[in-house]
Amino acid sequence: MITFLSVNAMMTHIPRIHTALFLTVLWGLLLSAWAAVPAAAQTGNLDFTLHKLESGMEGNTLLVVGGIQGDEPGGFNAASLLVSHYRITRGNVWVVPNLNFISIIHSTRGIYGDLNRKFSALQESDPEYQVIEDIKSIILDPEVDIVLNLHDGSGFYRPVHIDNMHCPQRWGQSVIVDQEHLNFPHQFAELGTIARHVAGRVNLHLYDDHHAYYFKNTHTSDGDVEMEKTLTFFAIQNGKPAFGLEASKTFPTPLRAYYILHLLEAYMDYMGIEYERNFPLTAEGVQDAINSNVALAFFDNRIFLDLADIRERLGYIPLPRGSEIRFSATNPLLTVLDAGDGYSVYYGNELLSNLHPEYFDYDFSISGVTLDVDGQEGFTHFGEMVAVADSFTVQPMEGYRVNVIGFTQQGVSNESGIAITRGEIQQRFSVDREGWVFRVEVYKDDRFCGMILVDYLGRSSPGDPNLGRTVSMGR
Ligand SMILES: [Zn+2]
Repeated sequence: MITFLSVNAMMTHIPRIHTALFLTVLWGLLLSAWAAVPAAAQTGNLDFTLHKLESGMEGNTLLVVGGIQGDEPGGFNAASLLVSHYRITRGNVWVVPNLNFISIIHSTRGIYGDLNRKFSALQESDPEYQVIEDIKSIILDPEVDIVLNLHDGSGFYRPVHIDNMHCPQRWGQSVIVDQEHLNFPHQFAELGTIARHVAGRVNLHLYDDHHAYYFKNTHTSDGDVEMEKTLTFFAIQNGKPAFGLEASKTFPTPLRAYYILHLLEAYMDYMGIEYERNFPLTAEGVQDAINSNVALAFFDNRIFLDLADIRERLGYIPLPRGSEIRFSATNPLLTVLDAGDGYSVYYGNELLSNLHPEYFDYDFSISGVTLDVDGQEGFTHFGEMVAVADSFTVQPMEGYRVNVIGFTQQGVSNESGIAITRGEIQQRFSVDREGWVFRVEVYKDDRFCGMILVDYLGRSSPGDPNLGRTVSMGR
């Protein structure tokens, strides 16, 4: 798998959560079902992230903002794919894929109201005051040349009324400007011209004629008080060319993200930003990309979980006693939230799994084990997933004990030195729902050393878990 983003993906954490407010607002919800609702005081792991995809080659800089509203997954998945599946080779793309992360987790427009109506005047007491301050300063960064705000909108915008779903009141499938021209001198001041150009570009790639994109001018400064409060209007008031991009909520998420990505590529092309993408830009290709390379690592890969097809609940996860939880994710929409008696793993709008820990002291004396896999011997680092066709054997090491989760043999407590086939492991202990991926854990006395995964379906590690985000959370 491609791990190129580690070279040029820089990430900045923007601290933002007001702990006390979090506690107040979420406590009532918490009392209902812990699995469905993230716990209070998740400082850090719901901060939005800024990913600077910088080519090192001089050129323009595009700022892409996804997830301003939490129930618009087409936009935030498209933004996230820029981070995880693209490489910028000329110019720069800055991506905030998860601006309203708490609302993304709750799959709601805005848990503290509409974040895209807070850009004109906002009380300092507003729980999102700091988020707005932080994103405003990124928008105003002198390096940023164009700002794009991604949305999923209802129906299909049409300049004239056709029917209830295709009419001027709808937002889906439109490229939006607040006014025809920017009121400042700028290489990209002709907002209307640019918007019509990119709409024309994506219209070359429609799955159906009625998916066509249209240009929409909200004429915001003519007295549209709602639009005056938005991110794009804030940007153009401050001399930054800005556009709203909408995909239709009528479509499934991958098709929405497909159209948004075509728009993003049209902007990059227009701005002379060059890029590589490691999946085919089709609706199916986008769907596969969203579901690929989704993994989580704890404590520098001592624990690694491939999240593709992960079980709803995993038990006995060996976490360190009395320590904060530190995790890395392959994808900026992945996060882990404290759920009181365990941890919830979220991927955008989806709750993937609940992890139930068992607490151990950790031992750092070794970094992996020697494995015999189908007759081939080699060293495997903790955090790797190993493809097994028939059987594997962990080579015995003096003083270390191996526990293959779901495997038991009468009278044996150390499972090293035993060739283990899939049929000998109880399937209900697998990491995945289908019963192919299993945990192999190594201990020194009572201390946990690390874990590897064996996959009898023959897949190996999906990627570098450090590309997306790394977060420490206190307990
Ligand atoms: Zn929206």
